[in-house]
Formats: sequence, structure tokens, C-alpha cells
Amino acid sequence: MKIVDLKCAILGKSPVVRIVTNAGFDGYAQVETWKTFLKPHILAFRDALLGEDPTDVERVMLKIRQRGGFKPWGAAVSVIEIALWDIAGKAAGLPVYKLLGGKVRDKVRVYNGAVRFPFAGYEPDDYAEDVRQMAASPEGFTIVKQPIGFHSPMKREIPGFYYGEPGKSAFHGALDRGLVTERGFKHVVACVEAMKNVLGDKVGLALDCGPGWAVPDAIRLARALEPYNLMWLEDLITGDYVPYVNADLYREVTRAASTPIHTGEQIYLRQNFKQLIEGHAVHIIGPDPGDVGGIAELKWIAEYADLHGILIAPHGTANGLLGLAALVQVCATLPHNFIAFEYTIGEPHWWYEIVEGLPDPIVKDGMITVWDRPGMGVDLIPEKARHHLGDEDREFFS
Ligand SMILES: [Mg+2]
Repeated sequence: MKIVDLKCAILGKSPVVRIVTNAGFDGYAQVETWKTFLKPHILAFRDALLGEDPTDVERVMLKIRQRGGFKPWGAAVSVIEIALWDIAGKAAGLPVYKLLGGKVRDKVRVYNGAVRFPFAGYEPDDYAEDVRQMAASPEGFTIVKQPIGFHSPMKREIPGFYYGEPGKSAFHGALDRGLVTERGFKHVVACVEAMKNVLGDKVGLALDCGPGWAVPDAIRLARALEPYNLMWLEDLITGDYVPYVNADLYREVTRAASTPIHTGEQIYLRQNFKQLIEGHAVHIIGPDPGDVGGIAELKWIAEYADLHGILIAPHGTANGLLGLAALVQVCATLPHNFIAFEYTIGEPHWWYEIVEGLPDPIVKDGMITVWDRPGMGVDLIPEKARHHLGDEDREFFS
């Protein structure tokens, strides 16, 4: 079998890659919803892939892996890896989890990082109301994640939150960071208390916190929140879109309190997890298959983390429905250090009409039952997806 073409189209706001073979099997994968700018980056790998056997996934990856980087620059390489596995599964007539070593679990737990409700404000009552809606959501989530502090509008909306000037973007602009004021600190703790009063011990609460916290604030926060038994504090020091890790700073925070510390969604490749894992610098890692280099890469990192007593809760909030399929396949195979992966939805909503293979409902009691269709098991329906292609992508399915 040979790769004869690599194509990329924008569906909604997601670049979708299609690897075409001479054997009638196509592989598909999807980049995070808001990264349309990566289309040319994906297409730049076309020449390297032509003529290769897509079922020798690792041999193909050796040709392109060094041409990625930390989020968002690892996404192009990562989705090509995922599309190759899709072909390998289809060619073997097997779900991809079989090719990764087989299932460890029949159902995979998800946590809510994608089903969101509008906020009326950023006071404790608003946070309480938001998690009330999340907990009542039909998916029956057993873990929900809430953005707070530097990973939320709180840093702007709460006057005097920190000793610094917040930028305009809530999430993906310049890195807002600095020492938090006593007032800002107390506000975060009050919001956590309000959310825990709603969730009790029924639904676990994780917090996406930054990046941006200074080490002494991060230590103080991890200690102050100990009574609330949180699932984890995510990305306090570095993380989302930060092109470095600072494992030594994480280690200081992690050693100082019992609240679990989590990071890693921005990290590309196993080599860049080395200090976090070998140094026991966090309790939980959160690589994203769509940024870390793919699903086999993620599985390798999960195994290595398990060897060191470190847990894993993979990221995936904006990976879309094809990304959801990749997360289900790989998470079915992870060792017992797996907690849950971050649920991702179809956006815009018509994405649910252009794919086949998803169960209905997708999530029940906070879990997804692992499906058995060949490949990733969720496929685009060209006749339906075609209507959503722009003019420059008209030939995507031909
Ligand atoms: Mg995050």
C-alpha cells in the first residue's frame, strides 16, 4: 500500500487532513477547532509522505517528526500520525486500539472541559451556578473542569486581581502572569468553596488555572485548597501555549502540598516530558494527542509516567469529533494511571450530521463505551460533509 495524496480542508474552523492511498483506504484526522492557520503547515508534509506505506506508521513518522514543535506547531505532525493509524486500522479491519496493544477498559471516562454555559459574572455565585449546570448536563459527568485565575476573565473582571496588566485575550493572547493580590487570592478560594458546595463529593472538580502563577502563589493556592479535595490544579506555572516546561518550578509546587498538580497540554514529544516525569515534578500529566505527536506517542508517555507513579488525564477540549475518536481509541489502551480524558464536542453543531459511527448518546454516566468499527471508528460522510467545504477545498473528497 502506498500514500498517493495528502489533502487538507477547513470544515467549520477545523483543518481536516485526508491521507489518500492506492488501496482504497483513506485516513482522516482533525486539528483543534480554532487552528485554521495550520492548513499550509499540514500540506507542507505532502511530498515527504508520497510513496510511503501508511501502515508502517512509525517509519513514516521518522521522516516528519522533527518538523514539529510545542503547541500549536506540533498539531500538523500529530494529526498526520492519527490519520495514518486510521488507515492502518481500516486496512487490518480492526479498531485502532487493537493495533496499540488492545483494550485495557471497555469504557473510558471523560471529564467535562467542553460543555460550557454563558457566565453572568465572575463572583462565587456565578461559579456555583455554572457547575450546577455542568453537573445537571445529560452526559452525567463525574469530573468537571473550571477555568479560574489567569485562565479565565477573572484576571480582568475582578479589580485588582493581580499586580500586573491583563491583556485583551482571555486565553490565547500574550502570557498574562504575575503575583496575585490577597484580594484576588481570596476571591479564587471563595469561588472554589462555592463550587464545592454545589458538587459535594458527587462530582470531582478540577481547575484550569493558568499559566501565569508565581511559585509562592501557586504553593499557597495548592495548600489553601487542600480541604476541598480537588481533582487537580492545571497549568499553574507553564502550560497552554507556553513553549517550555519549567519542570524545576513545578517540582517545588508539587512537593509543597497534597493538591494534585497537572500540566502538559502544550508539550510536543516524549523527550519534553522527560524532566517532568523523571523528576516527579507533577502528579498528573495532560498531553493532547493532537499536539504531542499523536496517539502512539501519547501511549508511550502514559506508560513511562505510570512507571514513575504519575497519573494521566489527556487534554482534548477542542479536538472535535474525529479528535474524540482518537482519544477514545488511545485511552482504551492506557495503563491504570489513566484518570479521564477531556471531552470534546462537534463545533459547529452540524459536525454531528457529517460523521457516522458515534454512539447515541455519546456519553452516559460520564463514560464512553469503546466502539469496534475499523480504524478510528468515526468517519466523515463525504456526501454530507461536502456542502460545508469552501470553494478552495471543493476537491477534498475527490
Ligand atoms: Mg488547560
